[in-house]
Amino acid sequence: MRDETKVVHAGRHPEEFEGAVNPPVYHVSTVLSPDLADWEQKKKDYAADRPGMYYGRHGTPTLNALQEAIATLEGGYRTLLFPSGLAACAGAILTCAKAGDHILISDSAYGPTRRVGTRFLKRFGITAEFYDPLIGGGIQALLRPNTSVIVVEAPGSLTFEMQDIPAIAEAAHRRGAMVVMDNTWATPLYFKPFEHGVDLSVQAATKYIVGHSDAMVGAVTATKEAWPKLRETHIDLGQTAGPDDVYLAQRGLRTMATRLRQHWESALALAEWVSRQPEVERVLYPALGTDPGHAVWKRDFLGASGLFGVVLKSVSHDAFAALIDGLELYGIGASWGGFESLVMPFDPREVRGATRWPDTGPCFRIHAGLESLDDLLADMDAGFKRLRAVT
Ligand SMILES: *Cc1c(COP(=O)(O)O)cnc(C)c1O
Repeated sequence: MRDETKVVHAGRHPEEFEGAVNPPVYHVSTVLSPDLADWEQKKKDYAADRPGMYYGRHGTPTLNALQEAIATLEGGYRTLLFPSGLAACAGAILTCAKAGDHILISDSAYGPTRRVGTRFLKRFGITAEFYDPLIGGGIQALLRPNTSVIVVEAPGSLTFEMQDIPAIAEAAHRRGAMVVMDNTWATPLYFKPFEHGVDLSVQAATKYIVGHSDAMVGAVTATKEAWPKLRETHIDLGQTAGPDDVYLAQRGLRTMATRLRQHWESALALAEWVSRQPEVERVLYPALGTDPGHAVWKRDFLGASGLFGVVLKSVSHDAFAALIDGLELYGIGASWGGFESLVMPFDPREVRGATRWPDTGPCFRIHAGLESLDDLLADMDAGFKRLRAVT
């Protein structure tokens, strides 16, 4: 079965719900047992990690449907849901790290994930070190006897560097370290983490899986080896996700393959157009032939999503504001992966530890939504004309 088909069918069991196409939304904490024997059996099944509904926090058919679908698409053993993408990132790292450990985080990792390493884990005697996202197999030199986790993300948040995941995974595994990947940008459709050596793969389902900017869900998928520890951590931290949000995520997933093709097509056309504007220093999008990460992207990835970065040459803040402020179709806001186009200004120099950001011009991120590409191009063209008028 191809992914486009899996996206539609994985995790759905209409035969279990009187034929309903989508799984019902179970709002449940208490699950009643008819007698003592049933109660004891449920407890045993739960302890042994067998299927069944024992308590709301420990899984329901609504949660199981999405977990099964994501595990199938990621190509991992099993998946657990978290209340947000960041909770999933933290949960995946906490699965692998213990007091006294050293962990390595890509310098291009999602900002709040960086902070989990430098602030939260520090309280538990764990040392986080940032590394150059382009380090590849050279990561070997940074591995210490107590390095337990390498956090990778490709392309990186905001700056879109491609990482050589197989080379990093090989070095990690030689030394008994685990690889945690944030696979949100590519989604499980455009990168297969477990074919490239990843041990735990994170999805901020909030983005493309939900796809409509109206719910927050995170997911961690594990290899069979990493699964028991992930499950234990998830249980101990009391993690779960709200049934309505999970329902929206599984509903969004069904159209994700179709949506992503359009996000990719529009982002590529926009990125090419933007890169030709004289005020643009460079465009950060590995699907562009001119991007330094293009070769790695082509080797390991199956597609590109709709999110990319733009670095402007040194223009005044007023000129930058003239570009951004008059945009009619691109909302100014955080997050991405919904049907709508967005822009978000950012300064990479605020989130660097191991590497130096070379450019001084203002940067912004574009999420190409599902509007007409012609309209998106015209709106961006008007923005650059306003910038030019101020310069
Ligand atoms: C948004 C995002 C997250 C966090 O997801 P939330 O659901 O907003 O907590 C994690 N990683 C990446 C790459 C993201 O873009």
